[in-house]
Amino acid sequence: MRSVEKKFPILVPDYRFDQKNEMFKRRIWDKDFIEPGKRLYSEVKYQNRYGYRKLDYALRNASWNLEYGFGFGNMKSNHGLYSWTHISEKIKRFVETDGPVALGLEENTRIVKKAARFLGADLVGICYAHPNLVYSHEFDLLEMEHRKIELPENCTNAIIMAVEMNYDSSRYSPDGISGASTGLGYSMQAVLANLLAVFIRGLGYQAVPSGNDTALSVPLSIAAGLGELGRMGLLITKKYGPRVRICKVFTDLPLHYDNPTLFGVDRFCQTCKKCADHCPSKAISYEDKTNEGPSISNFSGVRKWYIDPERCFLFWNKNWMDCNNCIRVCPFNKPHGLLHDTVRSFIRQLPVFNRFMILMDDLLGYGRSLSSSEKDFWEV
Ligand code: SF4
Ligand code: SF4
Repeated sequence: MRSVEKKFPILVPDYRFDQKNEMFKRRIWDKDFIEPGKRLYSEVKYQNRYGYRKLDYALRNASWNLEYGFGFGNMKSNHGLYSWTHISEKIKRFVETDGPVALGLEENTRIVKKAARFLGADLVGICYAHPNLVYSHEFDLLEMEHRKIELPENCTNAIIMAVEMNYDSSRYSPDGISGASTGLGYSMQAVLANLLAVFIRGLGYQAVPSGNDTALSVPLSIAAGLGELGRMGLLITKKYGPRVRICKVFTDLPLHYDNPTLFGVDRFCQTCKKCADHCPSKAISYEDKTNEGPSISNFSGVRKWYIDPERCFLFWNKNWMDCNNCIRVCPFNKPHGLLHDTVRSFIRQLPVFNRFMILMDDLLGYGRSLSSSEKDFWEV
């Protein structure tokens, strides 16, 4: 084992996940999910109810357009904005001149984080690209091919970036207004990952941008200090809670690694369970952590809360739409500001008040869905 692997700051299962087993790929080959998948992805059914009308779908679909039209991070690796090598012809001549820029480790780390923020990252951290967090195989939805995947040699550093999802629209989950906050996050992160990769290539190094393709985002984000793992299986960040989308760039540019950030999420989740209460498919566990998830779509092998991705997927299908309820109701999902930042620091420093915090969160109505026109998104 290389010394850097010994230092990887979180536990990782001792195998690599095959992307074929991810729910959105199982809809292609698993007979139990082919029909539900067709309904979700092929049929269009506008409804005469708030959040599901043609108007609402128009916003949701516009938000996704850059990802589906140019990014392809949900479809295949090394393609579109997530190409591992592409640079536009106009700027290629600058990139191909001279050798790599020689800066020190500290300087590299500082400039790459500065560039990431400039290009649109709301959060950025760096960690070792643990090989077990790279998929063993990708499932390419454009070519319908299942093939082995490896990062280019020496791309052992991972720059992890988070893009904030819109708070107001996420409050409408599980309807199309909320779906727009997800789509916009995916579109923006495709642009961000592409631009940062080109910046790094401009310095003379390899850069592999990645969305949901190629490698698992959540454990890399935790290792890179972006946040902690929540009961609902998502990354919870200090500033935006779980309301982020994550992209990454793998590179051979020498960089310093960040340390994980602990701010009381794990302990809070032991008491909270709001996401489990509000999950329409009962996919989120009320129980203690386990070492194994309920399906082949879980990356089993370490102690954590596992969700049931099959139940979640079947609800999306019934809903004709994705869902953000677990993000919407999470007490960490609050806009940045003095009051909410103070509460977050209370959680970190005085966990004895966690139960009280959860009670207040409920009493103040945080996390309630605004769907069904309680507050019309289009009027305010
Ligand atoms: S997305 Fe919705 S259905 Fe899926 S786990 Fe979260 S709350 Fe449950
Ligand atoms: S809703 Fe509560 S239990 Fe669920 S992830 Fe957020 S803090 Fe943890």
